[in-house]
Amino acid sequence: MKILIVANWKMNPVTVEQAKTLFGFVKKGIKNTKNAEVVICPPFIYLGILSGLSMGGQDSFWEEKGPFTGAISPEMLKNLGCEYVIIGHSERRENFLETDEMTNKKIKRALAAKLNPILCAGETAEERKNGQTESVLKREIMGGLKDISKEDVSRITIAYEPIWAISKGDPYQTKEIPTPDNIKKISFYIRGLLSEIYGQETVQNIRIIYGGSANSENARGFIKEAGMQGLLVGGASLVAEEFIKLVKNVA
Ligand code: PEP
Repeated sequence: MKILIVANWKMNPVTVEQAKTLFGFVKKGIKNTKNAEVVICPPFIYLGILSGLSMGGQDSFWEEKGPFTGAISPEMLKNLGCEYVIIGHSERRENFLETDEMTNKKIKRALAAKLNPILCAGETAEERKNGQTESVLKREIMGGLKDISKEDVSRITIAYEPIWAISKGDPYQTKEIPTPDNIKKISFYIRGLLSEIYGQETVQNIRIIYGGSANSENARGFIKEAGMQGLLVGGASLVAEEFIKLVKNVA
């Protein structure tokens, strides 16, 4: 299984020209990448404009169509050529009050639309301090995967994103990020959690990736030392040179 590198552009950049320029540089720079699958998740409005790399949405709704002002369905993303969709990112949980019940509904709809969901889970600094990391992960992962079959679960990627390590845009400015060893333990925990429900054989096919201030300098440690199957990259994906370097350092 190839490692998965997901670029989460979040609400950036502001103009379509900037989006095209960034995308163009990245496309050219990672052209010969063989050992990683790179997915670009730009804001929805750029999706129909950018092409030539694997694409994903940053969110999708739990209905296919209808009176849901402002929402985008997974079927719409699929129709624009997307293969992936990020679900339950902490910024959506915080700013749009998304619950585990909502992430679960979104995942089910995304699977029905033949997209590959990337479910994000991770604890706040406070929860970490209180020793609640595992219980938060259990709640968010099991809540998001409720009633998802064994067949479908292998199409899902779990992104461990400790909220305290997510950058405000510049991944080199984050005060603290987990060590590869910390992440290895968490990934072991997540795999165990999934194995209880789906069995070890199925879980072998599920990618567990890391997100939180990944950059071209630390990325290798998360993949080679921690053994993660990929990275979710925010800030570093907005600077073409930096993102290309990151991909080359791990793939
Ligand atoms: C993210 O929010 O998904 C993320 C990983 O952001 P950053 O790399 O900027 O910490």
